[in-house]
Amino acid sequence: MRVGFIGLGNMGGPMALNLIKAGHALVVHDVRPAAAKPHLERGAKWAESPKAAARESELILTSLPGPTEVEAVALGTDGILAGAVPGSVYADLSTGSPTVMRKIHAAFKAKGVHVLDAPVSGGVWGAQRGTLQVMVGGEESIYREVKAVLQAVGDKVGYMGPIGAGTIAKLVHNMVSIATRAVVAEGFTLGVKAGVTPEALLEAIRGASFGQGLMLSQMLPNVIFKGDFDTVRFALKLARKDIGLATALAREYDVPMPMAAVAEQIMVEALARGWGDKDSTAPWLLQEEAAGVRVRETKT
Ligand code: NAD
Repeated sequence: MRVGFIGLGNMGGPMALNLIKAGHALVVHDVRPAAAKPHLERGAKWAESPKAAARESELILTSLPGPTEVEAVALGTDGILAGAVPGSVYADLSTGSPTVMRKIHAAFKAKGVHVLDAPVSGGVWGAQRGTLQVMVGGEESIYREVKAVLQAVGDKVGYMGPIGAGTIAKLVHNMVSIATRAVVAEGFTLGVKAGVTPEALLEAIRGASFGQGLMLSQMLPNVIFKGDFDTVRFALKLARKDIGLATALAREYDVPMPMAAVAEQIMVEALARGWGDKDSTAPWLLQEEAAGVRVRETKT
């Protein structure tokens, strides 16, 4: 396929190289022309602007710092919209804003150009190896048309829903990943200050339920999505005891653990609801109540 690629940075650079390797004809552009050197050496063509790149492409991809750059490159003077051919597809691989992507989708639709938001996850390492997770939002038929090309960028390409859904999934992932780091930092500082080596802690956590990924493989699909908080696998009163013992240990060693303290208070609230003999996942119901939404499976 003739692919335009704009933004050849830490992620875009290797992603564009993988597209060349997969046999696609690339037209590339970046505000830093030097970033295109490895691509031009492998047969890619240089475009002077996003407009020029779009004019020659069936699929136009961008990997830019954020929503400000994406909006400027998509809708600005000499931008993609100015050059895109009706029937072509524009997919943004950056991490941006669902609102901006919906605005771009509407503006492009008027010209008969399809838009997908397709943020990626897996870091520079994943971009180099083509092992990224690509999270795609937009019309499903258009997703199916370009899925094979996106598979050169990531070996895990998934359809998330209408335009903006890819970006929402990506932001949820990054929030979970980044917030978890704060909890892990609390745990390791407590463990080390209380006398266990970091290597031993890593071994213990890796081999235990959290490290074995049971939250994703079991708890979410088999308990939460099914709303089964009454089958007790690990009683809430026992989980509350454990987090209480850990925060007590942190007090003994003067280790601040603000994230754990909040989690403990949520457990206390769940116990006060009379849920001690429910499963330890029951506090999930408090968040659902606060958020005004339920997280249950949609495909049965
Ligand atoms: P980067 O800054 O290395 O790359 C951005 C590229 O866009 C640069 O080459 C820059 O010159 C170019 N650029 C900026 N403005 C431009 C414009 N107006 N026209 C043309 N080119 C322009 O950033 P990155 O780390 O490659 O990240 C790109 C996107 O991917 C970001 O949205 C980021 O959040 C997301 N992301 C990054 C990682 C990571 O590990 N680096 C992982 C997943 C997702």
